[in-house]
Amino acid sequence: MTETDPDQSRAYSAQEGAEEFFSGHGTIADPMVGLEPEGVIEFARATLDLLSENAREPPNFELGMAEGDPRAGRYDFERDVIQLHPYQLNRWRVLHEMAHWFDPAARLGHPGHGPRFRTIHCFLVSAALGDEAGGKLAEMYRIDGVPIEADISWAEAILPNSDAREGI
Ligand SMILES: [Zn+2]
Repeated sequence: MTETDPDQSRAYSAQEGAEEFFSGHGTIADPMVGLEPEGVIEFARATLDLLSENAREPPNFELGMAEGDPRAGRYDFERDVIQLHPYQLNRWRVLHEMAHWFDPAARLGHPGHGPRFRTIHCFLVSAALGDEAGGKLAEMYRIDGVPIEADISWAEAILPNSDAREGI
């Protein structure tokens, strides 16, 4: 991926801030509470149910990153596969990659961490980890200067729009 993503580092920082807030609490939003590899697909399915997207097949997951790839996960939009590092699994990471998978911009070949991605991400985190977690993530995105799109519905968020076509 050579395309620039100006929001990437601030988006990562916001997510880290939100995760830190719940770290060690032992709740479902606690990033220290791991997820077994066998639990990933079930977690994805449960998240789709919570979003009333249960008619949709869950994403394809691959447990394993390419040699030398330091990331905990990535969405390979060309193959439509979410790759996850098997030893760095948690719910936040699955939801981050699922947000890429849902993002209409990614489907058009512009994967990134733009406003639409962030909005979808907050919807996913609220559904799967609770409104407090989704709200904290939205707050951290705002504090880090990369806010979400306010006042759009989930259905609107996942529809392709002009922003998605421009890949922002
Ligand atoms: Zn990402």
